[in-house]
Amino acid sequence: MGTAEVSLEYLFKVFTLPESKDSKLAQIEQHLSDNLADFLSQHVVTKVNSLSQIEKSFAEYSVPESPEFVSKHAEDLLDKLVANSVNTYSPSFIGHMTSALPYFHLPLAKLLVGLNQNLVKIETSKAFTPLERQMLGMMHELVYKQPADFYQSYLHSANHALGAFCSGGTIANITALWVARNKAMPATTQFRGVAQEGLAAGMLHYGYKKMGIISSKRGHYSLSKAVDLLGLGRQQMMTIDCPSQRLSAEKALALGKQFQAEGNKVLSIVGIAGTTETGHIDPLDELADVAEELGCHFHVDAAWGGATLFSKEHNRLLKGIERADSVTMDAHKQMYVPMGAGMVLFKNPNDSNAVRHHAQYILREGSKDLGATTLEGSRNGMAMMVYASLHIFGRQGYELLINQSIEKAKIFARMIQSHPDFELVTSPTLSLLTYRLNPQNVQTKMKSQATIDEALNKKLDDLTVIVQKQQREAGKSFVSRTRLQTKTYPEQAITVFRVVLANPLTTETDLQNILDEQIALAGNTHIWQKLCQQPS
Ligand SMILES: *Cc1c(COP(=O)(O)O)cnc(C)c1O
Repeated sequence: MGTAEVSLEYLFKVFTLPESKDSKLAQIEQHLSDNLADFLSQHVVTKVNSLSQIEKSFAEYSVPESPEFVSKHAEDLLDKLVANSVNTYSPSFIGHMTSALPYFHLPLAKLLVGLNQNLVKIETSKAFTPLERQMLGMMHELVYKQPADFYQSYLHSANHALGAFCSGGTIANITALWVARNKAMPATTQFRGVAQEGLAAGMLHYGYKKMGIISSKRGHYSLSKAVDLLGLGRQQMMTIDCPSQRLSAEKALALGKQFQAEGNKVLSIVGIAGTTETGHIDPLDELADVAEELGCHFHVDAAWGGATLFSKEHNRLLKGIERADSVTMDAHKQMYVPMGAGMVLFKNPNDSNAVRHHAQYILREGSKDLGATTLEGSRNGMAMMVYASLHIFGRQGYELLINQSIEKAKIFARMIQSHPDFELVTSPTLSLLTYRLNPQNVQTKMKSQATIDEALNKKLDDLTVIVQKQQREAGKSFVSRTRLQTKTYPEQAITVFRVVLANPLTTETDLQNILDEQIALAGNTHIWQKLCQQPS
């Protein structure tokens, strides 16, 4: 039942013949393109199964022996996979950076798969290569605003790259630091460069004991992966406490000077434009000065916040980003492109040559093959989605989207502040904020005490965890949680709800419902009931 006869004739049909209109897969396809939101609300989270229940339907460990009819398999996917997926499209799913997408990406995704271009080389991508280079140029101009002749010289130059497109912010950060590392230990008359001779030889040649990067505690974990991968070691990701949520330029400079005085080399200062946890932006201009003084690379991780540059109202928050040697951006975050769309941009179009690679059958010397300077090999034409979005929204469209997200976060912050039983923990700079439940009497008590009541904070931490889990499991809405040191609680980190207001379709009513649900869930817990009995 459901299995097909194994024959080449049948397999050729699988390659070439579309499904008949009344097959299950064709129905799914139709429903998706008719009304995505309706498809998702009908098929996603139809069951509230625990992960261990779900794992039982993925317990088979041998490769299926015989072919299964496509339609039969499609039914299986709906039942086992889609039904137990997460509805990131939902306006009440405000816990992460993954949200609803504009509808045009669905047919474009089909076009992308249909064309199946490989951007590693011109021979398998042709027009996609100039398109990707142009799109990177547009993003470069957004950040660096160079004159027209700069872009005329470099946009399609075989010997330069304005950036590298990749699957996401992680690869973008790794690429940026890879370039920085190779630039920090270039070839001399006695040394062929770190890319050729390796890290140990490079450190010996340049007389460095260690090489490390400096960022705030809010630095993304991909930076730590990068220093590991580049051979520097995870301990060489030096993070600085930031109860104000922003990296202090003074502290960064002091740490950098001390590190270098001990015979080490600071590879890069990393400023964050939109931290993953709270959405804060480091003082980029001041950090550019620090990097200059230390004589090191300056990288800005703007994976989340980079899109703020589209907004004339808010772009000054990122002042100084144009002084960065490299900038990471994720189009699959606030540019509403499907996942798999990250990029790193280089101020200096020569920088990518620090990692250039040649091979005999592709990436030949003088070719315009993008694979010569990207970390990844085979890559799809995701750049088309970014290119299309830039045209379909335009700068003005993105500006509106960015402005409304920030405005909504400010409204939500006011809703939290005006509710007696909530405490706003970090206010929004961009569209992220953190808060927690805290009964009015406890808030009054904590404010009147001279020292921080750690026991009370521990109870509140437990409460946040319980409510966050219950809300997630109820499946109607979702906020995430994290632990933070803040100005009010600088010593001991506290647990907070974390909200990302990325989905343009989220309304104030959705936000009110989320707070109401949290109050209701808290009311049923012992911790809440006990806390409410505390004298204020
Ligand atoms: C999301 C994010 C990353 C990682 O990007 P991926 O696309 O998940 O690899 C890095 N840095 C920051 C600040 C981010 O927000």
